Amino acid sequence: MDLILGAGIIGVSTALHLHARGRNVSLLDKNGVGNEASFGNAGLIERTDLLPRTFPREISEILRYASNSDPRLRYDLTNIIALAPWLVRYWHNSNANNVRAISKNISPLFVRCLDEHHELAKLANVSKMIKPDGWLQLSRDPTTYKNAMIGVERAKRAGMKSSVLDSAQIAKKEPALNEKFAFAIHWQDSASISDPGIYVKKLYDLFVANGGAMINGDARNLQQVENGWQLQADIGNIFADNVVVALGAWSGDIFKRFGYKIPYAVKRGYHMNYDYKKNGRLKIPIIDMDNGFVLAPMKNGTRLSSAIEFAHRDKKPTPHQLKKIEPIAQSMLNLGECQLEKPWLGSRPCTADMMPVIGKAPNHKGLWFNFGHAHHGLTLGPISGKILAQIMVDEEPSVSPRAFSPARFI
Ligand SMILES: Cc1cc2nc3c(=O)[nH]c(=O)nc-3n(C[C@H](O)[C@H](O)[C@H](O)COP(=O)(O)OP(=O)(O)OC[C@H]3O[C@@H](n4cnc5c(N)ncnc54)[C@H](O)[C@@H]3O)c2cc1C
Repeated sequence: MDLILGAGIIGVSTALHLHARGRNVSLLDKNGVGNEASFGNAGLIERTDLLPRTFPREISEILRYASNSDPRLRYDLTNIIALAPWLVRYWHNSNANNVRAISKNISPLFVRCLDEHHELAKLANVSKMIKPDGWLQLSRDPTTYKNAMIGVERAKRAGMKSSVLDSAQIAKKEPALNEKFAFAIHWQDSASISDPGIYVKKLYDLFVANGGAMINGDARNLQQVENGWQLQADIGNIFADNVVVALGAWSGDIFKRFGYKIPYAVKRGYHMNYDYKKNGRLKIPIIDMDNGFVLAPMKNGTRLSSAIEFAHRDKKPTPHQLKKIEPIAQSMLNLGECQLEKPWLGSRPCTADMMPVIGKAPNHKGLWFNFGHAHHGLTLGPISGKILAQIMVDEEPSVSPRAFSPARFI
């Protein structure tokens, strides 16, 4: 039996792809299906500039973030101190040469990601949840244009369509916007999901309809035994030949115990949902590049998602960024009543080299990893699930998995 730990988009996609290859698969989670990061993200399937989210390199940018008042990045000082070794590696990996290499490695994932979503969504009968019209990246600042165009050119070389809009074209494309922007990139080959939490649950329903099983339990009970793996779950002791760690921001709870020193950190993010108001409904999601937030028209209202917060995963929510961006968003768009009593908080699972960890754990038979998808876990879930399933059954992977191997940290 193959036991997948974690029923977010990564675990569910892996389960579906393994099951499709004839394996006996069970999912295990302690909190139901798709109720963490995979529930509360901004819903974007990002096929854009093919760059990872890097550590800032310009001194002016670093100083701006150091002030802890920019809505694009907030940090908790004690967390930053604890994360220092990770941050140094992250900073080093963000130099131009490394970013070029990382971009080359991750590009094939992004090129294929949307097709892989369509494939699973069709089987699960949720193709309609994937909105095909892309999204807009907006800026008020004409000086950012030149840099943005470098990304547009890179995406074009990889075969991805985009167009650049001026103020008048933006107003025509999104008449609900009340503010004037200098320019926008319309990422036409991207897509969005109108309710990411339901989407993951529908993929899970397909897994169950195909004969897959779900087990409630705590992954931290995992033990290696003579011929495989054992876990004390709610239904009792379960045994598995193979275990896949797909626990998102909680993956370190397992890999550390088995001696793997993977540089791993969490970037937290918040969202708030608002009712639709007359003339206040966007046609496609938008990203405010100047303030780092997303406004996405979801099934039941507009979702405002914040950028990066460095704070301990389990520390109580500190939604200061959301407080800063809410008035900006309200002046851009007529937002209705807040739908939540308090902001939703989620954790993005991040490696220091900005690439996911997909493959066999080098020192343990039957232990496999699929985590660390950071800002792009929804985007990359189906393709990552496919690659790991292909590796596990000795099939030629659709994308070379070499760069994503856990062995790179040994
Ligand atoms: C604000 C925000 C906006 C985002 N926007 C986007 C976006 O637009 N597009 C995009 O591609 N990505 C986006 N992301 C990132 C994306 O959401 C994540 O990368 C992705 O959801 C990670 O999926 P996962 O399956 O690895 O983890 P998760 O969805 O977090 O799933 C991990 C699972 O492990 C389970 N678990 C944890 N500990 C245990 C345990 N001890 N025992 C059993 N089960 C356990 C949890 O209950 C959970 O179900 C965003 C993230 C945030 C926070």
